[in-house]
Amino acid sequence: MDNLISLTGIEIGEGIKKGELNEKEVYFFFKQRIERIDPFLNSFVESYPGHLRCEGNSSLSGVPIAIKDNICINGKKISCASKILSSHIAVYDATVVRRLRMAGLAIIGTTNMDEFAFGSSTENSYYGVTRNPWNAERVSGGSSGGSAAAVAARLVPFALGSDTGGSIRQPSSFCGVIGFKPTYGRVSRYGLIAFASSLDQIGPIATNFIDCASLLNVICGADSKDATSASQEVPDFTKSLIDDVRGIKIGVPKEYFGQGLDQQTKKAIEEALEIFKQKGAHICKISLPHTEYAVAVYYIISSCEASSNLQRFDGIKYGYRKRFRIQNSEFKNSLSEMYKETRGEGFGEETKRRIFLGTYSLSSGYYEAYYLRALKVRRLIKNDFDKVYREVDVIFTPTSPTPAFKIAEKITDPLSMYLSDVYTISANLAGLPAVSFPAGFTKEGLPIGAQFIGREFDEATLIRAGFSYQCSTDYHKKIPKIAHEGT
Ligand code: GLN
Repeated sequence: MDNLISLTGIEIGEGIKKGELNEKEVYFFFKQRIERIDPFLNSFVESYPGHLRCEGNSSLSGVPIAIKDNICINGKKISCASKILSSHIAVYDATVVRRLRMAGLAIIGTTNMDEFAFGSSTENSYYGVTRNPWNAERVSGGSSGGSAAAVAARLVPFALGSDTGGSIRQPSSFCGVIGFKPTYGRVSRYGLIAFASSLDQIGPIATNFIDCASLLNVICGADSKDATSASQEVPDFTKSLIDDVRGIKIGVPKEYFGQGLDQQTKKAIEEALEIFKQKGAHICKISLPHTEYAVAVYYIISSCEASSNLQRFDGIKYGYRKRFRIQNSEFKNSLSEMYKETRGEGFGEETKRRIFLGTYSLSSGYYEAYYLRALKVRRLIKNDFDKVYREVDVIFTPTSPTPAFKIAEKITDPLSMYLSDVYTISANLAGLPAVSFPAGFTKEGLPIGAQFIGREFDEATLIRAGFSYQCSTDYHKKIPKIAHEGT
């Protein structure tokens, strides 16, 4: 069983199907790894003692998967890594979870994250930071840092994350795994606790493109329970696992290579481009002129939506409630006091910051100056992409300006933390599919991630280009040392 950590999810699925692997043993193998290694990494919020497999059937039947702690699993705790929800139990399955069950996957637990997905380092979690499996002094990225670290350390073959401004891709790049954010609407958001409803998207985190395409096949598709889910037909993504990029036009935007980009990251991206060129792709320089506004626009729009979405956590319906202390004069004023106390204690600092920023930008007098203007610039950013996609098939960029930074390095400086999303945010604002994949290591041994951004609903080309790169490199096969411990 020890070689299970070097098998892909699909290979494990095949082994189970052929009877060479026993699915319960597979489950307990990973469960034991979590128990042994995770007290150090802190990538899981909860892992389930029993084997939660459902009856469905697919090439991934019986393969364990972890779920970010903001996606509902019926009867299980769901907290968004927030104190305010720390006692909340989901009363239904998210659509993605229902689909995983129908495909027979075994849900093994929930993963750590920044509170309500606000962050880029998983340091904003009520449960504490998730360490990077490549270097325990570094962050795992965020907000899906738990999912990315768990997959990198092979505590589970793959996981689901959510991405509002980069939260699947940035931690995947920090941890040396693949993180895929599908087109907005491709995957149902029903049962995903909303951060910013016009930007949020669920997607897979895996070690290789074969698993990634297979998982997309399971989770994508229209859903009557999500009015924003798209009715577009879902192709079989595994058909795009072709080692051929001849004729594909790859655009390289000059705005993504400016100030702030780490030199080793830049070099790795240039080397990757060289590989694509040798394999017959056309590389063209392009420009996305409104990129410089993306971070500002994103933080206004996402915080406005977040402040509205988080109103429901008031101590009445869900989770934590600060109890009335009738005798105490401080509390004599009842309901509004209770709201204040509950939210004051239940939310962390970053969550409060987002609520303030959003409420302020939506308030009368500022709405036009901030929110409305941000919406207009969002359209300009989308127009930039529409124009460029008349010339190129995909866009290639670094995923993040730097590799994983140190724990506590940016936590007191929210602005510099926000800037770690400069390359990922535009894809969310424009609703486009994007993927981060391993493209090398720094001299210090930290993973470097590269990103493809595709046309709307053209996940297939991202899979084809990414898979082709994977066929010519072996970065995705490297396993951090911690994963070998005790095997
Ligand atoms: N880091 C970004 C933020 O803090 C993106 C988070 C996300 O994609 N959920 O908002």
